[in-house]
Amino acid sequence: MAASTPRFPGKTAVVTGASRGIGRAIAVALAAEGARVFCTSTKAGGCDATLAAIAALPAGAGEAHAVTCDVGDAASVEQLAKTALAAGNVDFLINNAGVTRDGLFLRMGADDFDAVLQTNLRGTFLVCKAFARAMAKARGGRIVSIGSVVGLTGNSGQANYAASKAGLIGLSKSLAQEFAGRGVLCNVVAPGFITTDMTVDLPADVQAAMQQRIPLERPGSPEEIAGVVAFLCSDAASYITGQTLVVDGGMTM
Ligand code: NDP
Repeated sequence: MAASTPRFPGKTAVVTGASRGIGRAIAVALAAEGARVFCTSTKAGGCDATLAAIAALPAGAGEAHAVTCDVGDAASVEQLAKTALAAGNVDFLINNAGVTRDGLFLRMGADDFDAVLQTNLRGTFLVCKAFARAMAKARGGRIVSIGSVVGLTGNSGQANYAASKAGLIGLSKSLAQEFAGRGVLCNVVAPGFITTDMTVDLPADVQAAMQQRIPLERPGSPEEIAGVVAFLCSDAASYITGQTLVVDGGMTM
C-alpha cells in the first residue's frame, strides 16, 4: 500500500508538555507528517526522548527543537514565543501541558486549587496570548487545547482539575469567536482515560472502575489522542472551530 501524503510539510507547531505521554505523541505525530515542532518541558533535557523519537522517524519528518518553559510563568512563556516565532510563523499551537493534584473537596487546600489552575488554565491563557497576535497577523492557524472529559462531567476528587478543564472550554470558545475572522480555528480535545504517567499510578481498583465505564473496554493510548489533534490541524478540519471533541472510548456518551 502506498504511504499517504504527509499533511504538514512547511508547517510549524508548538506543543507544550511534550516531554512524555500525550504531548510527546502529538509532537511525534505532527513531525511524522513534516511539521517542524517546538517541544516544551519545565526541565532542561526533559524533551530529549521526544527529540530522539522524532530524529528516528523516516525521511520527510520535520525537525524538532526543545524549549524549557513553565507555562504558568509569563516571562517563561514570552521566551518560548520569542524562540519559536524567531524561526517564522507558528501554524499549530497545542496546549497540552497539564497537572493534577487530586483530593476530596473538603480536604483540598486553596494551594492545590491554585497550582492546578496555574498550569492548566492560566498557562493556556498565557501561551495563547503569546502566540495569538502573530497567528492573527498571519491570517491562519490552529489552536488545539487538551481538556478532559472531567471538564464536562466533573469528577469526585478532582474539583480543581475539573474546574481548570471546564475553564479551558470557555477560553477556547471565546478565542474561537474572537479569531475566526482571522482564520485561526480553536478547539478542545477532551480525552477520557489514557495510559500515561498521569494515570499509571492510580490505584488498581480506581483503574478497574474506570475501565468498567468504557464501552470500548480499554484505556486509550496517547497516539489515539495525537491522531485527533493532527486531524484538527489538517485541511480536513477547516470548518471546525469552537468545538470540544471527546475522545474517550464512549465513556461519556
Ligand atoms: P503527563 O503527566 O504524562 O505529562 C504532562 C506534561 O505536562 C509533561 O510533559 C510535563 O512536562 C508538562 N507540564 C507539567 N507542568 C507544566 C508546566 N507548568 N509548564 C509546562 N509544562 C508542564 O500527562 P498526560 O500526557 O497524561 O497529559 C497531557 C494532557 O492531557 C494534560 O493536559 C492532561 O490534563 C490531559 N489529559 C490526560 C488524560 C489521561 O488520562 N492521561 C485524560 C484527560 C486529559 P515536564 O514534567 O517535563 O516539565
